[in-house]
Amino acid sequence: MNHDLPIFEIEERLCTALPVHRRLVLHAPTGSGKSTQVPQMLLDRGLSPGGQIVILQPRRLPTRLLAARVAWERNVKPGTEVGYHIRFEDVSGRDTRIKYVTEGILLRQMLHNPRLEGIGTVVFDEFHERHLYGDITLARALDIQATTRPDLNILVMSATLAVEQLEAYLAPCSVLSSQGRTYPVEISHLRKDSDLPVWDLAAREFERLIEMGAEGDVLVFMPGSFEINRTIQAIQSTGAAKGFLVLPLHGELPPRDQDAAVARHDRRKVVVATNVAETSLTIDGVRLVLDAGLARIPKFDPHRGINTLLVEKISRASADQRAGRAGRTAPGLCVRLWTADDHRLRAAQEIPEVNRLDLAEVVLTLKAAGIGDIRSFRWLERPRDSLLDRAESLLRDLGALDGSTGALTDLGRRMLSFPVHPRYSRMLLTAEQYRCVTPVALIAALTQGRGVLLRRQPREVLQNREDILGQSAASDFFLLMRAWTFADKRGYSLEACRKLGIHAQSARQVAPLFEYFLRIAREQGLTTDPAPVTDEAIQKCILTGFSDQLALRLDRGTGRCQLVHGRRGILSRESVVTEAPLIVAAEISEIETGHRELNVTLDMITEVRQEWLQEIFPGDFAEGHTVVFDPATRRVVGVRQKLFRDLPLENKLSEKVPEDAAARVLAQKVLEGELKLNEWNHGVEQWIIRVNFLATHCADLGLTPIGKEDCRAIIEQVCLGAFGYKEIKDKPVMPFLKGWLSPALVPLIDRYAPERLEMPGGRRAKIEYFPDGTTPKLSTTIQNLFGLQETPRIAMGRVPLLIEILAPNQRPVQVTQDLTRFWSEHYPKLKAELSRRYPRHEWR
Ligand code: ADP
Ligand code: MG
Repeated sequence: MNHDLPIFEIEERLCTALPVHRRLVLHAPTGSGKSTQVPQMLLDRGLSPGGQIVILQPRRLPTRLLAARVAWERNVKPGTEVGYHIRFEDVSGRDTRIKYVTEGILLRQMLHNPRLEGIGTVVFDEFHERHLYGDITLARALDIQATTRPDLNILVMSATLAVEQLEAYLAPCSVLSSQGRTYPVEISHLRKDSDLPVWDLAAREFERLIEMGAEGDVLVFMPGSFEINRTIQAIQSTGAAKGFLVLPLHGELPPRDQDAAVARHDRRKVVVATNVAETSLTIDGVRLVLDAGLARIPKFDPHRGINTLLVEKISRASADQRAGRAGRTAPGLCVRLWTADDHRLRAAQEIPEVNRLDLAEVVLTLKAAGIGDIRSFRWLERPRDSLLDRAESLLRDLGALDGSTGALTDLGRRMLSFPVHPRYSRMLLTAEQYRCVTPVALIAALTQGRGVLLRRQPREVLQNREDILGQSAASDFFLLMRAWTFADKRGYSLEACRKLGIHAQSARQVAPLFEYFLRIAREQGLTTDPAPVTDEAIQKCILTGFSDQLALRLDRGTGRCQLVHGRRGILSRESVVTEAPLIVAAEISEIETGHRELNVTLDMITEVRQEWLQEIFPGDFAEGHTVVFDPATRRVVGVRQKLFRDLPLENKLSEKVPEDAAARVLAQKVLEGELKLNEWNHGVEQWIIRVNFLATHCADLGLTPIGKEDCRAIIEQVCLGAFGYKEIKDKPVMPFLKGWLSPALVPLIDRYAPERLEMPGGRRAKIEYFPDGTTPKLSTTIQNLFGLQETPRIAMGRVPLLIEILAPNQRPVQVTQDLTRFWSEHYPKLKAELSRRYPRHEWR
């Protein structure tokens, strides 16, 4: 064992601090000895009296390697005192004291062992990566410590500082940090963008730097095994590679090759690794880092409703961690295979997984752990509500949660025994019933990566496809399965694949996933013998996994569809399913088409039948009655609906329409302006304004204003008893308005807010009332006003009217609220002028 490691400088402090709060945060740079030494310190000093020390790791590869290293340091065999447990490999026993596990394992274990019996300490390693399962398991561990296990130690370790949020979350807790020992690393970027594949770039830079005299071992970061293999070939073909061992390091390698990459050799080495070498694993002696700046990053793809693992640009924080690997033992060099401009545009940090992954699987696990209300769970960072809603709604549709109570169902509990996304565990369970586990496992594998079939292909390629793969009208998946089988049979030959527009590399990546899903299925006791299966069986399985994306064609001509959960969409033109009236879409994408209009396209279509829904989801049907306006007959008709969830699968005319429902529908059409009530005229509008005017100015009368909703109620009264437009078209409206007020108030409207006012000469001049509440206006000719000295008032004398004075030609000559002043100031001048023009009229 290497007692030089920086971690030993804080050993004493660590051992005193941990028992204080039993919660401790430890920051120390990569290579300090956190992962290998801390568990041993706890064990050797008897600081975990409650039992095992379990160390959570985000990745499988370091989990096994760390266990192997610590076992070696303690001179024991893995599986005895030191062990590990990853998804399909449990190398531990009853005597295991130190156990490295991947993050999902402990959360599942908590389901069967809710008090964590036999475990004394849980260590969260690499916590700065903020993986979904790390976040959730930490929250659950805190719950357990706060309730049944106050003696449980919780230790959170991280390679980066600045996690104040974490300290507040764990409070009260102790915080320790170690500076570690690092040497300066000189970082450079590409001067300009390059068209070369990233492996050729890496080989070019490798050759240049080795020839310039770069010392020590070399670490190259690449996103995945394919790029790693290409890089190794490219580097080995350079002259500079002479004398170097060039080794891959990634999770798909056999253990012996993984060990070789971290072992010491008598020659200089180049290790070409995925991001496992970023902080999880230390490779000693590295002084040159070549970084492709890419990683396969898990994300939730809302279009497909699944988690994806696509190659993405890493954040600036990750790039800094990678550069740091060159400065562990001496000053180093790091070359980034991207430009400085590109670097500036990258994200500062990765978004925590809890806010970028689909939460369905986690929510299902939490429900199984007895957490009924997911929103009040003690999240370190609470995910967006939309992500939680989506997860719960999907689980309901899959039958894992009860539709009304949201509680875990028996089916949901069974789904949990498969370590895959609930969509696929549900599909696999259904597949067992229909004896088609193998093809369903292939479908599951085909949906994970990038598409196997290339889009927008030339006509001849499409023709080849049709000739060789055939035309299937029942599911886009069937075409995909044939394409993959074709590629698989030809060893993923680029030549053969290109002819049919098949992405050979994507097709190749499907094979191990297919194997993985089959292995899970077998472990869960499902039947995977290749027996003949019908298309129908497979279609039913697809339906169970994607019933939340069921769609009904609205017509035959266009691709318009109505989906469950009140959504609408359009069938993709690329689908081979063109005729089916009822379908499920495995992919839904929302494309903004300007003017904020969202176009929803449905892709990866499978034909389904109503009988299958009935067979698989008998509890999700309901009878609906609704009343709609039929524009053709202009009558209200009753419709009996057969609903699957909220989607009306069938509409049948029904005789009975309740009067009040009909009135509501007609009134709605009137309010929307689609139907016109002829009697709803100016006088009616004025009446409403007059009532509202008095309600404002003469509050003492006790009138309530007539608002929008009151109008709706009045119109509904007008429509009551009618079923068609003909019956309301000419129906009088005024009686209903008057009836809306108490009878004693009705005459007061005419008295205090009259429609007309009698002039001294006996004529009745009209008053116009305004909806915006401005002063009502009386318009009349000068002749009619003779004899009226003062401005007339309404509303119990409280509001002087606005007078619009008209010349004999009915044109306004003056608007005033002060008639007295008009007569004395303006009238004499006006009279002189007007009497000349209109000598036959009376002028006083
Ligand atoms: P940390 O977790 O702080 O990054 P580790 O405990 O993983 O540090 O590693 C501490 C040191 O132990 C490394 O710098 C390296 O020298 C040594 N080491 C760890 N694992 C191995 C291994 N599998 N093979 C050789 N050396 C190792
Ligand atoms: Mg570590």
